Amino acid sequence: MKSTKDIAELLDEPACEHNKKEKSGCAKPKPGSAAGGCAFDGAQIALLPIADVAHIVHGPIACAGSSWDNRGTRSSGSELYRIGMTTDLTEQDVVMGRSEKRLFHAIKQAIETYNPPAVFIYNTCVPALVGDDINATCKSAAERWGVPVVPIDCAGFYGTKNLGNRIAGDAMVKHVIGTRDPDPLPPGTERPGIKVHDVNLVGEYNIAGEFWHVLPLLDEMGLRVLCTLSGDARFREVQTMHKAEVNMMVCSKAMVNVARKLQQSYGTPWFEGSFYGITDTSQALRDFARVINDPDLIERTEAIIAREENRIRQALAPWKERLKGKRVLLFTGGVKSWSVISALQDLGMVVVATGTKKSTEEDKARIRELMGEETLMIEDGSPKALLKVVADYKADILIAGGRNMYTALKARIPFLDINQEREFGYEGYQGMLELVRQLALTLESPVWEAVRATPPWRIKAPSPAGEGWGEEKINQQNALFDPPHPNLLPHGEGTVVAAGA
Ligand code: SF4
Repeated sequence: MKSTKDIAELLDEPACEHNKKEKSGCAKPKPGSAAGGCAFDGAQIALLPIADVAHIVHGPIACAGSSWDNRGTRSSGSELYRIGMTTDLTEQDVVMGRSEKRLFHAIKQAIETYNPPAVFIYNTCVPALVGDDINATCKSAAERWGVPVVPIDCAGFYGTKNLGNRIAGDAMVKHVIGTRDPDPLPPGTERPGIKVHDVNLVGEYNIAGEFWHVLPLLDEMGLRVLCTLSGDARFREVQTMHKAEVNMMVCSKAMVNVARKLQQSYGTPWFEGSFYGITDTSQALRDFARVINDPDLIERTEAIIAREENRIRQALAPWKERLKGKRVLLFTGGVKSWSVISALQDLGMVVVATGTKKSTEEDKARIRELMGEETLMIEDGSPKALLKVVADYKADILIAGGRNMYTALKARIPFLDINQEREFGYEGYQGMLELVRQLALTLESPVWEAVRATPPWRIKAPSPAGEGWGEEKINQQNALFDPPHPNLLPHGEGTVVAAGA
């Protein structure tokens, strides 16, 4: 189990600007702070996309259920990561003191059944409280079967999901990165006059396969991606991360400690960037070239950017006309709270407010840069608060995570899922085309007109005895739906009522 000192060290993150005043880089966990995901949840979502590893959750089955496969990350090969594995501890195991034994057997079963290159063990609250020594169990299992078994001590009560991300990153730095050198370039892949540079991406999860929009561009630039921690990654790739010339931090909050520690230990420079939107994608490509500082690469990168921007702006033109001036309420967290703003502004849309519940101080500074000092940042993500902002600022669409979907749909507001559960990839230039398509399809769907129209029971029947709705039936239905909630009248349409309000 981690000591208070270990946790304090993880919270003290010098790479965060808001770390300066207090010792802690992040707010201390308060009661209820794990409601958006506990430390275990954060650690598992950070590492689960490493596709060929056997991920075993050491704890009661419910822990595994709370985080398994909840991120729509894609793999280009192995699907082992999608098999949920847990030691399924019960009260009996705790009382009889046999949870370590169960863990040992679970490792054996995973290795014998799936022959993975490594096994990751996630500690949870129950074994941490009963005092299981997962480090010792992992060590003896690794010696017994000759397969790396990596302990990730991330019991939920240590803190928030963000702390869990850091614990995961820390485990990779301590146990995995630096244990192998990259393979030589395959013969015939080098192009004359082009020097290949090795790079990493940290905090890139390949949601809905979106990183595959960007990868061909990096290939064309002559950048070999040693590892994307952790979308579509393999264990052997994580082992080689120390050899990269530059690291790009794709999500500032998730695993910034990995980038900082790689800089400290191996001198690898890093920068923060995003692949959402034309401007940010171009900036990220430029930053790679700038940090590597290869004049030929800088020149070729500019040519690629010019070609791609030109191509995508032409492809976007007909869609942009349809979206121009539409008002958006964006409620998401972390890096997306600013990177998606830039993508929407590229499309000529107006972001009326953005959610900052899970944003860092740096994220907020970026938001102010993009939207001005007076911008509305909302922390309260309750349905009532969101609907009030939609109504007050006359937003045409809510872009948020899946958990807000029914809030929007019940209020008959167009909704687009931007978080990890989404089905579509929005990264890179090509991702912009997908984003614009989804926005237009959502906003222009005929369903909004239909559900906002006056319902049949509010239309007076021709005669009490005639066909259709009689007076009595109309009154019954009206009683069910009155009074309409004022927040559910975002467009001043007096006939719109809240279903079930
Ligand atoms: S690790 Fe702890 S807080 Fe997290 S899901 Fe399991 S029991 Fe709950």
